[in-house]
Amino acid sequence: MNNDLTQFFDLPAGLLRQAEECEQLIRPVFERIDSIAAYNEAKVLAAFGRHKISAAHLTGSNGYGYDDLGRDTLDKVFADVMGTEDALVRHTFVSGTHALTVALFGVLRAGDRMVAVTGAPYDTLEEVIGLRGEGNGSLKDFGVSYDQVDLLPDGTPDYEGIKKAVKGAKLAHIQRSRGYATRPSLTVETIGKIVAAIKEVSPETIVFVDNCYGEFVEYQEPSAVGADLLVGSLIKNAGGGIAETGGYIAGRHDLVELCGYRLTSPGIGREAGCSLNQNRPMYLGLFYAPSVTASAIKTSVFASALFEKLGYNVSPRYDEPRTDLILQLVLGSREKMCAFCTGIQHGSPIDSHVTPVPWAMPGYNDEVIMAAGAFTLGSSIELSADGPMREPYAVWMQGGLTWNTGKIGVLLAAAECLKEGN
Ligand SMILES: *Cc1c(COP(=O)(O)O)cnc(C)c1O
Repeated sequence: MNNDLTQFFDLPAGLLRQAEECEQLIRPVFERIDSIAAYNEAKVLAAFGRHKISAAHLTGSNGYGYDDLGRDTLDKVFADVMGTEDALVRHTFVSGTHALTVALFGVLRAGDRMVAVTGAPYDTLEEVIGLRGEGNGSLKDFGVSYDQVDLLPDGTPDYEGIKKAVKGAKLAHIQRSRGYATRPSLTVETIGKIVAAIKEVSPETIVFVDNCYGEFVEYQEPSAVGADLLVGSLIKNAGGGIAETGGYIAGRHDLVELCGYRLTSPGIGREAGCSLNQNRPMYLGLFYAPSVTASAIKTSVFASALFEKLGYNVSPRYDEPRTDLILQLVLGSREKMCAFCTGIQHGSPIDSHVTPVPWAMPGYNDEVIMAAGAFTLGSSIELSADGPMREPYAVWMQGGLTWNTGKIGVLLAAAECLKEGN
């Protein structure tokens, strides 16, 4: 009974009734999410078995980390799960941006050209590519040039533009998730069409996918439709809320090998790099990842349905096909953004007693508000929300380690918004 929640949380009865209606509405969507999770959990379990994972793999190494059985086998398990020839999974990737950077510098050389074929890449890549000035060691500083093909006004890929731009390019960059932009996210099926367009005119071009927020949201990963390299973060989907830090690069063996040389040094590559005590959380996190990802998507679908019912503009809508965890909610005012983030914060397991306030974050033009009460700092597979204080006053919400607690966070956010007048 939904009303039981009021034993623990201050939630208006009218809101709980609406929430229950939403839960009825989204039942078929949840069935699909469960089906995808079941498939991906089986995929992970089978990969563990195939590689005979045992207690020995869960212990770590120190120093140079030569012959680290757990680390080397995790690469193989991960490659199996991602459907790639090879993978490089390391806690020494400090973030998704770092893994993306290692992959780009790993395969690009002076005189090469990369083309972003799905519009502007994630913000943090601008410095990496060299779009914000020179002299910081960007790809541009090293003689790698950059082109961009924007999505069409309706958010679909510009296949003709892509075919023109990628001829002779060393690498084509695709971003699966919308990130914190207003463009739609790209399904694996759409990524497959982009890959086909690229390979038709330029088979040698490396197709590189920023897979952040996308892992385990669909039955297949972009490798299944011909992508050559996939890159992501372990404090999002692929770490299952358990990996304490890290990232991965998965794809063609020769390319992953080059990334290893960039991560450590030429000649040493992947053979060194101790795992300390991080093998166990990375294995356990991968094991949980499909089910935790499903919880985060359920939280997102519920929030989408509820806020639409409450009269807000949401994207994606609850019944749109999902390929990532991100939900954009247009709340329309500064006060509502503060209210929303306050509710999310109060529904978090950590720092629930704190009230978030907007602040002038370095590197941003507008004040930003963030709600994040996570076990792992900055983890966005955990329930979190943020947005810049400007028109249209939208927040981006993602995560939720368990559906039942994610739902409470969303309900508290809605209750706070209602207090602001709705
Ligand atoms: C999160 C994310 C990244 C990397 O962000 P980090 O904070 O560096 O982990 C890159 N691309 C997309 C689309 C993302 O969502």
